[in-house]
Amino acid sequence: MPHTRRDHAVVLGASMAGLLAARVLSESFDRVTVVERDALPADAEHRRGVPQSRHVHVLLARGASILEDLFPGFVAEAEAAGAQTTDALGQVRLLLSGQRLLQTDIGLRSVLCGRPLLESLVRARVRALDGVSFLERHDVIGLTATPDGRRVTGARIHADGREQETTLEADLVLDATGRASRAPVWLHQLGHGRPTVDKVQVNLAYATRTYRLPQGAMGKDQLILNNATPANQRAAVLAEQEHGLARLTLAGMLGDRPPLEPKAFDAFAASLHFPDIFEAIRDAEPLDDPVGFQYPANVRHRYERMRSFPDGFLVLGDAVSAFNPVYGQGMTSAAMQAEAMRAVLAGHAGPAGHDAPLALPHDKPLTWRRYFQAIAKAVNPPWQISAGGDLAFPDVRGRRTPAIRMINAYLPKVHAAAAHDVDMAVAFIRVGSLVDRPESLLRPGMVFRALRRP
Ligand SMILES: Cc1cc2nc3c(=O)[nH]c(=O)nc-3n(C[C@H](O)[C@H](O)[C@H](O)COP(=O)(O)OP(=O)(O)OC[C@H]3O[C@@H](n4cnc5c(N)ncnc54)[C@H](O)[C@@H]3O)c2cc1C
Repeated sequence: MPHTRRDHAVVLGASMAGLLAARVLSESFDRVTVVERDALPADAEHRRGVPQSRHVHVLLARGASILEDLFPGFVAEAEAAGAQTTDALGQVRLLLSGQRLLQTDIGLRSVLCGRPLLESLVRARVRALDGVSFLERHDVIGLTATPDGRRVTGARIHADGREQETTLEADLVLDATGRASRAPVWLHQLGHGRPTVDKVQVNLAYATRTYRLPQGAMGKDQLILNNATPANQRAAVLAEQEHGLARLTLAGMLGDRPPLEPKAFDAFAASLHFPDIFEAIRDAEPLDDPVGFQYPANVRHRYERMRSFPDGFLVLGDAVSAFNPVYGQGMTSAAMQAEAMRAVLAGHAGPAGHDAPLALPHDKPLTWRRYFQAIAKAVNPPWQISAGGDLAFPDVRGRRTPAIRMINAYLPKVHAAAAHDVDMAVAFIRVGSLVDRPESLLRPGMVFRALRRP
């Protein structure tokens, strides 16, 4: 790369966003230290800091292709470790807006496996990078900065079981601590105020159970998705996993909690709009008891709109924007943000800014605003899909712009058309896989095909 390298970057959080950020920063920094509160398991195991790992985690086609780009051979390695790769439409049964979408192979591949396996494979790749090290069982408690608060100089950390905090000095600190990120508080303490926050309140509850399915229970498919609609606010996804297992996540919106008691869990599965998922699990062998999770809202921090921001500090992943998990976008969004950061670091992306240069290793002046504008561009499509889509439910709280109302009236027509017109199904899933932008469904030809059906 045509730029001088910097010494030390510190990444806060070693989940998917932190790992991908470390991979990208290792191209520009001599040393990258990833600080994580948990002890990181050597293998594919659940850990406290990622409680969502017990629920279905689909890596969408766009995320899989970015991971393949960052870690060549990754998808084959995941397959060798037991993950399933599936054609995003040919082997995915989409039951959306009360419609059964047509299926055909489209050559886009999603990855299906437990979240611990996926994360452990990425972690192993990052561990193998020159200059990257992990500081486990260390809690990040704050930032250090110059007295005027204009430059972050490191992170304050606290080792598990020790009394005293220590400081980790850095040229750049990147916060990837997820939904509970304290970056807004830290920025406020440094005198920069807090970012504005967009919120769409869904009060979603999840319950998940693992099964061994009877042979052929899902037909030729590897994933079945039954979405929620204003008429039936219950959703579910049943996905094949590693070692011949399958995982079922049930979701209820607006306070409708899928029960954890096994019989009631089955009854919830039977109450979905389509019988497909219940029929697939009816004679299956359950391997665990259902576990729950609650997700109050889609949340997006508008860092790109702040008036001032310290040098030497960035935020990435769920800490910027966390989405309703039903759409399966979070890890792919983290990958898209990492890709955007990589382009910014290489001087290829983002509009020119006039703010103080972010102290990053480039000839071309880079600013925090340039970075966050590139991140916002990466976050826009998943945000439009999840937060916008959730606003189709009358009781979901959030700001409904005329464009959102229009799209939410239009999408069921796209689904209806996609039940008869395979090109519409392909166009839809390319957007759902975050490969094409949502606007592509609004091209005149698409609108004509969607609206010509009664
Ligand atoms: C129920 C559920 C289902 C989901 N399903 C999907 C799916 O199907 N597909 C998909 O792509 N995404 C899915 N997601 C989203 C996905 O889990 C996240 O988007 C993804 O993990 C990226 O998040 P992250 O790395 O930014 O944060 P997180 O995964 O939340 O990780 C934050 C990390 O920071 C660490 N940490 C936090 N605070 C500190 C601190 N003070 N000091 C040190 N370390 C700290 C934590 O221990 C953790 O390791 C789902 C989410 C939920 C909740």
